[in-house]
Amino acid sequence: KLVSREFQSGNTIIKIGDYEIGGEEIHVMAGPCSVESRAQIIETAHAVKEAGATFLRGGAFKPRTSPYAFQGLEEEGLKLLAEAREETGLLVITEVVDVRDVELVAHYADILQIGARNMQNFFLLKEVAKTNKPILLKRGPSATLEEWMMAAEYIMDGGNYQVMFCERGIRTFETYTRNTLDLSMVPALQSLSHLPVIVDPSHGTGRWNLVPPMAKAAVAAGADGIIVEVHPQPEKAVSDGKQSLTPDNFASMMAELEILAQAL
Ligand code: PEP
Ligand code: MN
Repeated sequence: KLVSREFQSGNTIIKIGDYEIGGEEIHVMAGPCSVESRAQIIETAHAVKEAGATFLRGGAFKPRTSPYAFQGLEEEGLKLLAEAREETGLLVITEVVDVRDVELVAHYADILQIGARNMQNFFLLKEVAKTNKPILLKRGPSATLEEWMMAAEYIMDGGNYQVMFCERGIRTFETYTRNTLDLSMVPALQSLSHLPVIVDPSHGTGRWNLVPPMAKAAVAAGADGIIVEVHPQPEKAVSDGKQSLTPDNFASMMAELEILAQAL
């Protein structure tokens, strides 16, 4: 299989602008769950850039559990992300949820995110495979390692070899945390596949105070990067405020990660 170490023994390094994911550097992708307004995304972008993030995250198309919840600013949100990139130099990662929007999202984004709920949306996987953008493939909330790797195989088989895995927690009996972050997937994937592995401790825990320790654990486990939710006022966030770090908490976490990365 194309995803496997048997097919390619050396690690895949994904080059995006001046950055390489899967190489020596650990990349931090940070930003709000949803793009809410120009002021919100620009303020967050400056804050996370200042603290050392290299990518700005933010959802413009939101796959919400309730149809009555905020669904995203759509193209307006994509334009605001592009504006934030222009202003800060951060590259943009954002989710695409629908085959009909792939071209549009690829026009604005530097990395396309496939959300957990769409990990086995095979038609969407085939569609993003046709773009020349790197893909961040989140683990389905109840997907096995094998199913997850086969989802990546769909994208590679479709011609796009720039794929990275993202562990974001799975559904277990535990309800204290939103999901159970399965950090064993980092070394497991790295032994079976040559593709980079990113960890999302925000969706993986659902609680902001658990995010920095799990981010450190992810880096210690060998992750190639982390993706973290940050909001200037988490209590006012339209989505995922409970798991969002304030810019101050994000900066403290980054300082700790820096020390950890040097020790490894
Ligand atoms: C998100 O990144 O905001 C998101 C919806 O993540 P997931 O697909 O992992 O739930
Ligand atoms: Mn979110």
